Amino acid sequence: MLDYKDEWLLDMGGMMEKNLEQYYDPTSLYARLRLAQMKRAWKKENRRKLTLWERTYLPTLVSGVWLTSKHFFYNLMFHILHLFGLAKDVKAAVTYQYPEKPRPLSPRLRTRHRLTKRADGSPRCVACMMCETVCPARCIEITAAEHPDPNIEKYPAEFIIDLGKCVYCGFCVEVCPEDAIRMDTQRLDIAEYSREEMIYNKKRLMED
Ligand code: SF4
Ligand code: SF4
Repeated sequence: MLDYKDEWLLDMGGMMEKNLEQYYDPTSLYARLRLAQMKRAWKKENRRKLTLWERTYLPTLVSGVWLTSKHFFYNLMFHILHLFGLAKDVKAAVTYQYPEKPRPLSPRLRTRHRLTKRADGSPRCVACMMCETVCPARCIEITAAEHPDPNIEKYPAEFIIDLGKCVYCGFCVEVCPEDAIRMDTQRLDIAEYSREEMIYNKKRLMED
């Protein structure tokens, strides 16, 4: 029986006879696409026929039930052992009732941004523009203004982050000299109905 590679060679031979120069190179994109297409067709035609036993679907059904039961009893056994303070080092699977009960996240995980505050509730940010400059996604936009306190040079009259563009690289947090921006809200489920709602302003960033 010919396999798809033999068929490919015959195919190529036929094409060469037709003097189709663009098909001569077997490494060309066309050649690779044609080879993949023939491979699929060959597999489809030469698929093994199922036996009568396999056509009852019982072997598949039994193996599925076996696998599910294996995991169920394995986890059940370790949850019971954990109740008695045994085998604590072996983890057993649990189901989180998301979104009512979200899965605990690592404190190191970069999650939605927040602007930190001073004791008087004003933002710690001094509008130095370093985060805006370093941001690779160009999604931070700060409007600087003179601060009434002469000890503080500037403050952000507006601080906008377009979370629809943010790539969560954390550069803005790393570069901030004032620890004024953090990504530790533990919020990842940021979903809105429009792109405009994904744009967070200073007020929203200071809510957490
Ligand atoms: S996490 Fe990265 S992409 Fe997002 S705002 Fe900060 S610097 Fe920009
Ligand atoms: S958040 Fe930090 S880096 Fe960004 S403007 Fe404010 S002080 Fe500068």
